[in-house]
Amino acid sequence: MPHAVPPPRTSIAGRRELESAKNGLCGLRNIGNTCFMNSVIQCLSHTTELTRFLRSHHGTRTGATKDQLILNEFAKLIQEMWTANVHSVTPVELKRAFSTKHRMYSDYNQQDAQEFLRFFLDSLHSALNSGVKGEMLNIDDNLSDNKKADLTWEWYARHENSLIRDLFVGQLKSTLKCTTCGNTSVTFDPFWDLSVPLPSSSRCKLDACLDLFIREEVLDGDEMPTCSKCKTRRKCTKSFTIQRFPKYLVIHLKRFSETRWSKLSNIVEFPTGDRELNMGSYGANLNSNVHYSLYAISNHMGSTAGGHYVALCKHPVSRKWHEFNDNIVSDALPENYLVSSSAYILFYERA
Ligand SMILES: [Zn+2]
Repeated sequence: MPHAVPPPRTSIAGRRELESAKNGLCGLRNIGNTCFMNSVIQCLSHTTELTRFLRSHHGTRTGATKDQLILNEFAKLIQEMWTANVHSVTPVELKRAFSTKHRMYSDYNQQDAQEFLRFFLDSLHSALNSGVKGEMLNIDDNLSDNKKADLTWEWYARHENSLIRDLFVGQLKSTLKCTTCGNTSVTFDPFWDLSVPLPSSSRCKLDACLDLFIREEVLDGDEMPTCSKCKTRRKCTKSFTIQRFPKYLVIHLKRFSETRWSKLSNIVEFPTGDRELNMGSYGANLNSNVHYSLYAISNHMGSTAGGHYVALCKHPVSRKWHEFNDNIVSDALPENYLVSSSAYILFYERA
């Protein structure tokens, strides 16, 4: 009697793993120039902690604010996108909810992805914000910079208290120095992303953009601030460092001029591997290694007038990169596909 060949066995856990490596590979249909929105939604959909929250969020319709309706529709969309065997969905309800709050999005014109991201996160934050407003910020000028930073952050967190803030917001330190008396004053502001300028060379490293962002700037002429020691307007220098690093760091490459008449097509070489971006040298306290891993990119292709957005995202289970071009999802991409002249918004997760 021949030996019976046992059937190939995949454990239940193994099978679930295989299935979940396919979940989330879900396209979004274009409902009329909505690729800017689709690209940003894919990047947010691959923001692990946000998606984990949204998959268990069930909002009610009654008494909901416009922002809460946006949150509810977004949660419904994310839940669909991460359901097994769903290959594309139509974000029409989310678009409708968003346009009700933000009227400039009610037509079907092409929009800027970074601007959309800011409005969108702001709506999600407002929908979840349990902060209490009203209290004034009062800080003793004799405290250390780090103490001032902590008190400012605690004050901010009491006003703006949501998961969205926890995930995306960092704190920027700006230092103003009087060129006459040398007096310095610091202020601390929250940031939702870093909008970095591009140098004039056609190819550079991301560091060069970050250096330009934090670089000392001279405020002279009409821009002269009032020095608190000289009690008069003085030529000052202003520089930035990062006081508090966010869990998810969004870096916006400023490819478009203010008027959007021109677009820079420089190649910015940004770190793509695990823990490859070290932001430590941009910190206000120069001691820590602050490592980030890239997990999503919003790409803008083409000129300013037309143009098209897609997203490149790293799957949280398979760790493979895919391109999301509206309803079309590519097979796994090689890593050398990630850096290109189209990269527009970079999403990093703190490692
Ligand atoms: Zn002065």
